[in-house]
Amino acid sequence: MTYEYQLRLLPQQAACEQTIKEYVSREKGVDFRTITAVRILKRSIDARQRTVYVNLKVRVYINETPEDDEYEPTVYRDVSQAQDVVVVGAGPGGLFAALRLIELGLRPIVIERGKDVHERKKDIAAITKTQKVDAESNYCFGEGGAGAYSDGKLYTRSKKRGDTRKILNVLCQHGASTTILADAHPHIGTDKLPRVIENMRGTIIRCGGEVHFCTKMTALITEGDSVAGILSIDLTTGTEREFRGPVILATGHSARDVYRYLHTAGIEMEPKALAVGVRLEHPAELIDRIQYHSPHGRGRWLPAAEYSFVTQVSGRGVYSFCMCPGGFVIPAATGPGQIVVNGMSPSNRGSQWSNSGMVVEVRPEDSGGAPDDALCMMAFQERIEHDCWQQGNMRQTAPAQRMADFIRSRLSYDLPRSSYAPGLISSPLHFWLPQAVVRRLQQAFETFGRMSRGFLTNDAVLVAAETRTSAPVRILRNPVSLQHIRLSGLFPCGEGAGYAGGIVSAAVDGERCADAVQTYISTHTL
Ligand SMILES: Cc1cc2nc3c(=O)[nH]c(=O)nc-3n(C[C@H](O)[C@H](O)[C@H](O)COP(=O)(O)OP(=O)(O)OC[C@H]3O[C@@H](n4cnc5c(N)ncnc54)[C@H](O)[C@@H]3O)c2cc1C
Repeated sequence: MTYEYQLRLLPQQAACEQTIKEYVSREKGVDFRTITAVRILKRSIDARQRTVYVNLKVRVYINETPEDDEYEPTVYRDVSQAQDVVVVGAGPGGLFAALRLIELGLRPIVIERGKDVHERKKDIAAITKTQKVDAESNYCFGEGGAGAYSDGKLYTRSKKRGDTRKILNVLCQHGASTTILADAHPHIGTDKLPRVIENMRGTIIRCGGEVHFCTKMTALITEGDSVAGILSIDLTTGTEREFRGPVILATGHSARDVYRYLHTAGIEMEPKALAVGVRLEHPAELIDRIQYHSPHGRGRWLPAAEYSFVTQVSGRGVYSFCMCPGGFVIPAATGPGQIVVNGMSPSNRGSQWSNSGMVVEVRPEDSGGAPDDALCMMAFQERIEHDCWQQGNMRQTAPAQRMADFIRSRLSYDLPRSSYAPGLISSPLHFWLPQAVVRRLQQAFETFGRMSRGFLTNDAVLVAAETRTSAPVRILRNPVSLQHIRLSGLFPCGEGAGYAGGIVSAAVDGERCADAVQTYISTHTL
C-alpha cells in the first residue's frame, strides 16, 4: 500500500529519510515499523518568512517495496537500416532531436563542429591559460552545446512548450540524479553533465545513428525549394563531405557564421529582441544571509540561495538571468576579439560566489542598425563584445566595476576577489556600455536594493558583458510543420533558430522537430 502526503518540514528534517519516516509516523498516525520506504515526489524551499521550510510531497510505502525505476524509461530501437535525418548541432536541441528520431524509427546523423565533451574541456581550460578562444571548441561549441559547461538548470518558465517531464526522464535514463524529477528548481551541475551527454551519444551510436565531431556544416544542399542535406567540412583533415536527408538545424545562438551564410543564401530570417547587460557576482554567503534571513547564512542543510529579480525601466524589462548560486563566472566568447561572460556551477553549488546575468531587454529598434536588417541585433551584440575586449586589454581579462560604484558612475579603485579565472580589470562600465542599458541597470539596481536589503553593495562586482542571452535572429518556420517558411525539409530548431531559451526548452523543441520530420517523411517521397 502507498500513501501520498504533503509535508512542511524544517531543512534538517527534510534532509534525512529516517527523520521523514519518523515525522510521517508521528503526524499521520502511521506505524513506523510498517514504513518500508519514502520517495520524494516534489521538493521546494519556502524562504519567504524568517523560518525557512522545505515543502515535500512524499509517497510512503507501507509493507511494500518501491518500484526499481524512479523514472520512466524511453525505448530506443535499432535504426541502423532506417531513413537518415541530418541533425546539425549536438547541443540539447540536436541531441534530444536525435534521440526522439530513434524513438520514432529514424536514423540520426549528428554533425558537430566542436569536439567531444571531454576533449572540449581542454580547450575551455586553455582560455584562462592562453587568453585565447578556439573558434570551434569553447563554452558554446562542442558536444552538449552551450548547456554542457553550465549550471545545468533544468527549469523553464514556459509551460506551453511541451513535455518537460519527458526531458527530465530522458536525462535520468542517461545518468542524471533522479532528484531532478522532484526538485522545484532542478539542476545537474557542470561536473555531472558531461557523463550524461556522453551516455546520450552512446544511445545514438548503439542504436545505429552517427555522431561526427569536428565536422562543420558549411552549406545546405537545396533542390528547388527543398533542402536535401548539407555540405560539411572535416575540421581535422579539411575533407568536404555531403550528408543527405531532411535537416534539423540546431546550431545555437552563437553560430554567427551560420546566420551569415543563411542571410547570404537569402533564407528568410528576422531580427529578434534579446537582453544584454552584465554578470553580477556577490559573495555566496552574503546572498545566503539575505535570502534565508539569517546571519548564519544557509547553515548545514540548505543549498546556496537563489534569487530572481525583475522590473520595468523606461518601457524595457530589466531582470536577473540564469542565476548560478555557488558558481563561477566564465569566459563564453566563441572567437577572437570578443569578451562574453556567462555562469556555471558544480552540482554542489559550493563555490564562494553566487552570480547571475543582470540584463536589459533590447529590441531591434534599439540596436542602432536598420530594424528590418535580419542581422542588426547580432551586429549590436558584436559591438559590445568587441568594446569589452578592447577594454579588457585585448585579452580575456574582463572589464569590471563594483556594483555601488556603477550606480554612482564612479570608477572602482580596486575590485573584490572574483571567480572569473582569466582575471578582471577595473573599467568605467557606466561610461562605455550602451547608455540605454546603463541607465536602466542603474535604476533597476536601486530598485532591487530596496526590495532586498544588502543586495546593492560594493562587495558585489559587475563583469562585462552578458550578451548571449538568446538568439539575435529568428529563422522563420511554419508554426505547424516546423519547416522553414519557404524551404521544405529544413527544420530550424532550438535556441539558435529563435524558438527556445535554455536547456529544457531547446530539448523540447528538438523533440518537436523530430516529430515534424517524421510527419514530413511520411508524406513525402524522398
Ligand atoms: C555558460 C552557459 C551556461 C548556461 N547555463 C544554463 C543553465 O543552467 N540552464 C539553462 O537552461 N540554460 C543554460 N544556458 C543556455 C543553454 O545552454 C542553451 O539555451 C541551450 O544549450 C541551447 O540549446 P541548443 O541545442 O539550441 O543550442 P546550443 O546548445 O548552442 O548547441 C548548438 C550546437 O551546434 C553546434 N554548431 C554550431 N554551428 C555549427 C555548424 N556550422 N556545424 C556543426 N555544428 C555546429 C555548436 O558547436 C553547438 O554544440 C547556458 C548557456 C551558457 C553559454
